[in-house]
Amino acid sequence: MGAMTTQIMAQQPQQPQPQQQSVQPPQQQRQQMKPEETEDWSRRPAIVTPGKYGAPPSDAIILYGGPQDIVNWVHENGSAPVKWTADSALTVVPRTGGIKTTRSFGNCQLHVEWRTPSVVSGTSQGRGNSGIFLMGLYELQVLDSYNNETYYNGQAGSIYKQHIPLVNASLGPGVWQTYDIVFTAPKFQTNGELLKPAYFTVFHNGVLILNNVSLRGPTEYIGIPVYKAHESKLPISLQEHGNPVSFRNIWVRELE
Ligand code: MG
Repeated sequence: MGAMTTQIMAQQPQQPQPQQQSVQPPQQQRQQMKPEETEDWSRRPAIVTPGKYGAPPSDAIILYGGPQDIVNWVHENGSAPVKWTADSALTVVPRTGGIKTTRSFGNCQLHVEWRTPSVVSGTSQGRGNSGIFLMGLYELQVLDSYNNETYYNGQAGSIYKQHIPLVNASLGPGVWQTYDIVFTAPKFQTNGELLKPAYFTVFHNGVLILNNVSLRGPTEYIGIPVYKAHESKLPISLQEHGNPVSFRNIWVRELE
């Protein structure tokens, strides 16, 4: 029980009062209260040192900051080492398959920087396509959506085939872009039924593009998504879609 609740309860009279007195208008109630009664001292926020310009804050888990961090990733089938190019950035090698983190995550704040190829080739879904799959299931689309029309719930910043981004904040091909993601994992009852869906809030290059949107289920290329109960934490995966998209400065903060 928080300090605020304790203090308010301590204020309450021992004996039941006539209804006229217990139902006071809020303004009258306020006049009888002390400022301390609405102070909450129950949870002292941890001190976190912010990073500059998207750099990881002091309590982040680094998923990719350079070639040494390739150990945090495996092929999507679980095998290692991954076949993507791992230098200052992690770059898709076409036809080698997607990759996923060795660690599992549920609710989290995720920062990812990504870059589509500077040499533009392909159109629509074929141009700079990759994706960030939270829990390996829920895709935030990565695509070159700078002067590249495709179905709107499939462009950069979409939750693939479920949510159109509020705006198109895309920078050009060959330019580093950022996603700052707040993800809430879905919850399931013990009988496997959905209790709460997954939610995404996303900033693209600092611009809010998805505001606490709920998902209908895992990402599907064909058909209507349907939730299937799964673990409360699962690896984050990056999609290989045939285009040499690069990633860097990937870090995550676990949330309750
Ligand atoms: Mg994709």
